[in-house]
Amino acid sequence: MSENLLEVDHLTKRFGGVTAVNECSFTVQKGTITALIGPNGSGKTTVFNMVTGYLKADSGEIRFRGEAITRPRPADLYRRGLSRTFQQARIFPELTVEENLVVAAGYNSRQLFGRRVSDSDRDRATKMLGEFRLETLAQLPAADLSYGQRKLLEFAAVLMSDPMLVLLDEPTAGVNPVMIDAMEQHIRERHAAGVTFLIVEHDMQLVMRLCDPVIVLDQGAPIAFGSPDQIQKDPRVLEAYLGS
Ligand code: ADP
Repeated sequence: MSENLLEVDHLTKRFGGVTAVNECSFTVQKGTITALIGPNGSGKTTVFNMVTGYLKADSGEIRFRGEAITRPRPADLYRRGLSRTFQQARIFPELTVEENLVVAAGYNSRQLFGRRVSDSDRDRATKMLGEFRLETLAQLPAADLSYGQRKLLEFAAVLMSDPMLVLLDEPTAGVNPVMIDAMEQHIRERHAAGVTFLIVEHDMQLVMRLCDPVIVLDQGAPIAFGSPDQIQKDPRVLEAYLGS
């Protein structure tokens, strides 16, 4: 039976005179890799920021696992199983790759600072380094990584919290083709292990082979929802993209 992990219910956000998100409603079902696409300025980032607690909605409700989370704190959501990445990967550049993962393990604890790193945090970080094939880079400062490697590291760090739902904000933007394949593979592996995804992504080929369903936003609200095949044939979608 399908289960709504995330419900976005008549969400609205205005910036001055601009209505960035307009009575926007959609759901993300457990076990899916759902895409959120749409022309530039259609409200995707604003939706992400509201769902993950970085921006307060003017009205509407967000529910995660059946509970209202309207204006939660990002750290609380993280502990409840909702994590995200950013367009520009947010990592600690001065820490090593391994330390970034160990610190991420600590987010799960209420007491991050002054908390002793446990052996289990280190073990989990080592395992994650292996799974992401980052072992050879483990002792380098994260600042030394390539753009694509940073995105992979951020994704690995997010997974240290054992999330149920991961929001990926343009995971392959600016990343070379080899890294795009690596990112896709990691998303598929995690999905197979039970993680649900909501992904904003501009690479339509990737969206069409990886995601189902696809939600198309235009002017702050969904104009289409369906399988990649349905979306590609939808005249409203074509019009929204061509008109932009
Ligand atoms: P997308 O991610 O789909 O490109 P955004 O959510 O970034 O769209 O933007 C939606 C609309 O809201 C755009 O018109 C954008 O200019 C506007 N907007 C987004 N953030 C702000 C902000 N902080 N201040 C003013 N306008 C904003």
